[in-house]
Amino acid sequence: MRSLVTGGAGFLGSHLCSRLIEDGHHVICLDNFYTGRPENVRHLLEGPYARNFELVRHDVVEQYYSEVDQIFHLACPASPVHYQRNPVRTLKTAVIGTMNMLELAHQTGARLLLTSTSEIYGEPEVHPQREDYWGHANPIGKRSCYDEGKRCGEALAVAYAGHHGVSVRIVRIFNTYGPRMHEEDGRVVSNFINQALRGRALTIYGDGSQTRSLCYQTDLIEGLVRMMALGSDPGPVNLGNPTEMTVQAIAELVLELTGSTSGIEYRPLPSDDPTRRRPDITRARHVLGWEPVVSLEAGIAETIEYYRSRLPARTSNGQHTTTRTKTLAVG
Ligand code: NAD
Ligand code: UDP
Repeated sequence: MRSLVTGGAGFLGSHLCSRLIEDGHHVICLDNFYTGRPENVRHLLEGPYARNFELVRHDVVEQYYSEVDQIFHLACPASPVHYQRNPVRTLKTAVIGTMNMLELAHQTGARLLLTSTSEIYGEPEVHPQREDYWGHANPIGKRSCYDEGKRCGEALAVAYAGHHGVSVRIVRIFNTYGPRMHEEDGRVVSNFINQALRGRALTIYGDGSQTRSLCYQTDLIEGLVRMMALGSDPGPVNLGNPTEMTVQAIAELVLELTGSTSGIEYRPLPSDDPTRRRPDITRARHVLGWEPVVSLEAGIAETIEYYRSRLPARTSNGQHTTTRTKTLAVG
C-alpha cells in the first residue's frame, strides 16, 4: 500500500507516518515545513524504516503527482496563531491544496481522507456537536480563513465524490494534543506546559470558563486509520474526546502534573473564540467501533515528559546554557 501523508512532518502527520510504516505501508510524506519540522520524522529516515519512507518538500498549493493508493490530507496550519499569521496562505492551502489532492485522487483512483475540524461548527448553538449540525461560523472573522477554508474543503470533497466518483472520507478533528506539537505553536496545551516548565505564568485568555475537549494523539491516529479503512463513506465523522473541561481546569491540571509554582495570568479573549466545544462521537462509535482510551492525566503526563526532554540544559545557578527553543509565540 502506497500512502501519501500531506502535512506529514507536522504534529499529527508525523505520528500518522510512524503508524502507517509500522502497519507495513510505503509512506510518502509531503510537507513545506510551514509549521512542521523534518526532525519530527527523522526516526523514519534512518534505520530499517528508511526504504519505506520518502520525505518530499512540497507545497500542496502546487500540483503534485505520484502513484498512490491512499491520501491522508493533513497539510494546513492548525493553531490559531499560525493560521491567522497569513490568512491568504491559509485559505490557499485549505482550498487550492485540497483541490490539488482531490485531483490527485481522481487521477490515481486513490481514496482521500480529509482532516476537517470542529471549527466548522464555529460558535456552536448545539451542544455537544453532532455531525448533522451545520454550524455557526463567522465568515469574516479572524478565524474565517481556517473555518471557511475547511468548510470549503469539505464541499470540495463531496463535490469530487459526487461528480467524479472519488472515494473520500471526512473526519472532523476536535482539539488533539501530544508530543511533537511545536513549542511555539500557541495552542493551549503546548503553551501551558511550556510556560509551567519555564516557571512563567500560564496565560489564560478570558476568564477561563470556555471549554474544550482534549484528545490524545494516539487515540486520534487510531480513528484516522480506521476511517481510511472503511469500505463505504459514512459521511463526516467527529473524532475527539468527549470529556469536556474549562480552560481554567486545564491550567490547574498542568500546574499540578508539572509540579510548577507558576501563577496564572489572565489576558483578553481573542475574538470569535468558541465558548464551548465537545464532540458527540456516537457516529464514530457506531461506524468505526472507536472511542478514546487515553485519560487526560496520562496524555498530559506524556506530553510534559516530551517537552521536559527538550528543555535547554541549565547550569547550577538556573541559567540556560543553550537556546534550543525560542520564546513562545504567545505567552
Ligand atoms: P501542524 O501545524 O503540526 O501540522 C500541519 C502540517 O502541515 C505541518 O507540517 C505544516 O508544515 C504542513 N503544511 C501547512 N501548509 C502546508 C502546505 N501549503 N503544503 C504542505 N504542507 C503544509 O498541525 P496538526 O495539529 O498536526 O494538524 C494536522 C491537520 O489536522 C490539519 O489539517 C489541521 O487542520 C487538522 N486538525 C488538527 C486539530 C488538532 O487539534 N491538532 C484539530 C482539528 C483539525
Ligand atoms: N487558550 C488560552 N491560553 C493559551 C492558549 C489558548 O487560554 O495560552 C485558550 C483559547 O483562548 C481557547 C482554548 O484555550 O479558548 C483552546 O485554544 P487553542 O488555540 O488550543 O485551540 P482552539 O480550540 O481555540 O482552536
